[in-house]
Parts: sequence; structure tokens; C-alpha cells
Amino acid sequence: AGGGSDKIDYVFKVVLIGDSAVGKSQILARFARNEFTLDSKATIGVEFQTRTLVIQHKSVKAQIWDTAGQERYRAVTSAYYRGAVGALIVYDITRRQSFDHIPRWLEELRSHADKNIVIMLVGNKTDLEDQRAVPMEDAREFAQKENLFFLETSALNATNVENAFQTLLTEIFNIIN
Ligand code: GDP
Ligand code: MG
Repeated sequence: AGGGSDKIDYVFKVVLIGDSAVGKSQILARFARNEFTLDSKATIGVEFQTRTLVIQHKSVKAQIWDTAGQERYRAVTSAYYRGAVGALIVYDITRRQSFDHIPRWLEELRSHADKNIVIMLVGNKTDLEDQRAVPMEDAREFAQKENLFFLETSALNATNVENAFQTLLTEIFNIIN
């Protein structure tokens, strides 16, 4: 009945991982607050942000965790992964090294997180197409081989950010329903 509009049916924890400076915090800022900062500082302290959306008439609160700059020290703790039902592994399409490190992140995820976690590979910064160092086809092939969802995004111009979270959260929703 009236007043029930703030009822939450599900809370899904989603973690963001990937090398430093690939745009994880800006992807989150874009999704949670529709904001973007060009000279964002390294994240300090583990934090998460939430956004509630409606999937198949149910209210789903996404609780999205961002690393505390720990990616530099390869010290993301198991507490970070605990309870996560989804993950975005992010690389920067202009930095080959950030893509080459994806298997390492995948291994981290598979050793710390639930084995049924839904994973999306995200190639960020498509607005810098002229500096592209990772062909989309390489990433697509890798994602197929590893059974991951895959999208390229730009947190700067908002391309596919909504789509990435929607796809991930809908898949999680479908698995548990
Ligand atoms: P994080 O370390 O992975 O959290 O990366 P940040 O979100 O802090 O972003 C690192 C740098 O890349 C910052 O200067 C951002 O403004 C920039 N950045 C993030 N996303 C994009 C994007 O989609 N396009 C462009 N051109 N720059 C971006
Ligand atoms: Mg960050």
C-alpha cells in the first residue's frame, strides 16, 4: 500500500577491482551520483556507495564497493570480497598493462569470492579511442573464454556505465529468482 515505495527487496553487494587509475572510482561516481571528476584522487579507505533500482518490479539496492587504493599493494583483503554476488573487473583501453593484469585479478576473485559470483569485464575510457592500446576483439575473446560478461565504457561521457551495472544486476537477479 502507499508509503511502501522505499521497501527494498534485495541488496546485492558488488565489488570493483582492477589496476589503479583505470577509472573504478569514476565509474562508481557516474553510476551512483551521475558525477565525474577528471583529476580524481586515489581513493582513501574502503568505501561503498549504493543505488537502488527496479528490476522486474522488485526494488534492488546495489551496494558497490570501491578499493582503497589497495590495488597498488595487491592487498585487497578477503573482507572486501565477502558476500559479493557481482564483480566488475576494470581495465583501461589505453593501457595494455591494465588488461594484461586481468588474469591476475580474476585469480584473486576466484580464490576469495563466492564461486557463483557474476563477473563483468569492463574496458574503460572509450572516449580516448585515439589512444587505444587494447583491441576490443582481444577483450571479447578473453571474456568468452573465461565466461565473463564484457562491455567497454566511458565514465567521462557516461557510455555504457548504466548498461554495465544493469546487465550485471539483472543477471544476479535472474540467478536467484
Ligand atoms: P581508479 O584508481 O581505478 O579508481 O581510477 P579513478 O576513477 O580515480 O580514475 C583515474 C583517472 O582516470 C582520473 O584522472 C579520472 O578522471 C580518469 N578517468 C576515469 N574514467 C575515465 C574515462 O572514462 N575517460 C577518461 N578520459 N578519463 C577517465
Ligand atoms: Mg579509486
